Amino acid sequence: MSTQAAEFTPGGQNHMNSTPDRTAWLKGGGALCLNPPTPPRGAPWRLVLLGAPGVGKGSQADLLCERLGACHLSTGDVFRAARRSPTGERSPAMQAAFECMHRGELVPDGTVVSLVAERKACLHCAGGFVLDGFPRTVAQAEALEIMLEDQGVGLDAVFDYQLPLEEIVERLAGRRICPVCKAIYHLTGHPPRAEGICDLCGGPLVQRDDDRLEAVYTRMEAYTATIEPLLAFYKQRRQLVVVPAHGTPQEVYERAWARAAVLRPGLAPAITPWPGPGGKS
Ligand code: AMP
Repeated sequence: MSTQAAEFTPGGQNHMNSTPDRTAWLKGGGALCLNPPTPPRGAPWRLVLLGAPGVGKGSQADLLCERLGACHLSTGDVFRAARRSPTGERSPAMQAAFECMHRGELVPDGTVVSLVAERKACLHCAGGFVLDGFPRTVAQAEALEIMLEDQGVGLDAVFDYQLPLEEIVERLAGRRICPVCKAIYHLTGHPPRAEGICDLCGGPLVQRDDDRLEAVYTRMEAYTATIEPLLAFYKQRRQLVVVPAHGTPQEVYERAWARAAVLRPGLAPAITPWPGPGGKS
């Protein structure tokens, strides 16, 4: 467990030379990061983020990584990166995974666990990690626990972000992303200045395949079917921090650490100010 609350620079961002890459995580197969995160002054943070799709986990992951210097380990990003690779390079398991994603269903545990196991060196990342989208089932949580034990690293906390279902569906169906710079917009809540064009890089905004309304409902069903036992798993281990996810990303970020401090006094780092409109919403 990390106990580095006082060592984090108050009000400052993490000391990084430039944005670290995630080559080892996204490519797997022993690939190395070209610009790994600079280790924080204290022990690295190791967090798991839970929450329904669309609840704002991605924005929280970005904030946490930026401020703690941790690496963003998202299994959804690995699948999306693999989908961009040539069709001939896809294994049958990966092809089946893409079909599950397209329908909004969960990829089978065996496929996801092997994908993470192949990247288990990332659990040792000197900057720590923010796992986003994994685990999603108790079988995956058990597999992760064994991997962490094997690697000799512990989890600091599991943040579960919560919002009412109607709000989540509305958020997802209106979400548009820039495939070039990954900025996120919402048709009504955070529209781009010019329709369909990214404000930051001019890229064409698209709807994620699994944000189509049919897929959204399937994803929500998959989520509600698996989340309760997963929450019980982490509650039993006294790692679960429930975080109501309404409000701005900064408010949610601060609420998460305030609640974490209730679970374990001294757990939270100093709260840093919201970086402003340049940060992702
Ligand atoms: P996400 O970006 O986390 O919402 O993931 C996008 C899609 O990838 C999901 O709807 C699933 O089809 C698949 N996926 C990602 N992570 C997992 C996981 N841990 N278990 C099963 N399926 C996953």
